[in-house]
Amino acid sequence: MAVDIKSLNQQELEEFLVSLGEKSFRAKQIYQWLHVRHAAGFDEMSDISKKLKETLSQNCELTVLRKVQVQSSKVDGTRKYLFALADGNMVESVLMRYKHGNSVCISSQAGCRMGCRFCASTLDGLVRNLTPGELLDQIYQIQKDIKERVSHVVVMGTGEPLDNYENLLKFIFLLSDEHGLNISQRNITVSTCGIVPNMRRLAEEKLQITLALSLHAPSQEKRLKLMPIANKYDIQQVVEACRYYFEQTGRRITYEYSLVGGVNDSPEDAALLAELLQGQNCHINLIPVNPIKERDFVQPDSTAVSDFKNKLEKYGRNVTIRREMGRDIDGACGQLRKQFLLAADNLPALAGGE
Ligand code: SAH
Repeated sequence: MAVDIKSLNQQELEEFLVSLGEKSFRAKQIYQWLHVRHAAGFDEMSDISKKLKETLSQNCELTVLRKVQVQSSKVDGTRKYLFALADGNMVESVLMRYKHGNSVCISSQAGCRMGCRFCASTLDGLVRNLTPGELLDQIYQIQKDIKERVSHVVVMGTGEPLDNYENLLKFIFLLSDEHGLNISQRNITVSTCGIVPNMRRLAEEKLQITLALSLHAPSQEKRLKLMPIANKYDIQQVVEACRYYFEQTGRRITYEYSLVGGVNDSPEDAALLAELLQGQNCHINLIPVNPIKERDFVQPDSTAVSDFKNKLEKYGRNVTIRREMGRDIDGACGQLRKQFLLAADNLPALAGGE
């Protein structure tokens, strides 16, 4: 079977080249072509012999995503990309421009099997996991497109990253590798719906990435109505796993809370939420729900949103309201897989820049 060369770390690449009868130092050159210069094919690798290029193309598969569509916001420079994978599946990624740098939101799976009621990405179920190379190439292609460095990455697009654990982990190591794109782990955020065993596993890796937890409800009863994963892991277990993540890594958790009018936005909900997170060093990010046509969830009015925020602040919680980016391109995103954009106010917290 062809080797997925973009998913190998430098040591694996060395071993692979040696197995082909090549000198191991070639690994460094090829790794650079893949992860720094983002070569579109083996032919571009100008300091590699013709013979080695041929051997590589016979034995390897080189993941290069194809840009199918780009929508660009005139308001804030946000760009939404639709990429085709080699097998014809499509994924969506979003570039957001902030004063402190360019941030890319990537998809972790083609589709999703978590079934959150308010989410469009899960409506057609999971197609497959993305490989480490496919996770990386979303960022590489965007960087090539804008000819500027990407400094922050959020894994918050389609899919559940902790349902694709091994590939996610390889991806994080490759992305933060000093010989690759060298993005600081502190500038990487992974968002999960709360797969408890894998949150604990991730905590034990002792990485410096930020973990964002999609909470969306202050009680088990309410969470069950919105997120089927709550059947498997109780809200208390999830919050406990977040505490564990903080203990193990020293990294403050971001709780995401999508406000749905009449469902989870009452003053009692705010009080319960404050109590649930009592004593935790964390940050709460409120997101007025983005209504999808397949469900009848609505956004709370803006006073309900600010009342909710004020109430949490009264209890001493650290909270922001997510500002929507690329508002003017939202409506046009017909075929693009629906995605959620990150707020400028929220980014310093996500990036760990307290
Ligand atoms: N599976 C991961 C990451 C992808 S979803 C997770 O659950 O965290 C990214 C974020 O967008 C999650 O917080 C998710 O709950 C939220 N989200 C999904 N659909 C939404 C919608 N219609 N309105 C607001 N937020 C939504």
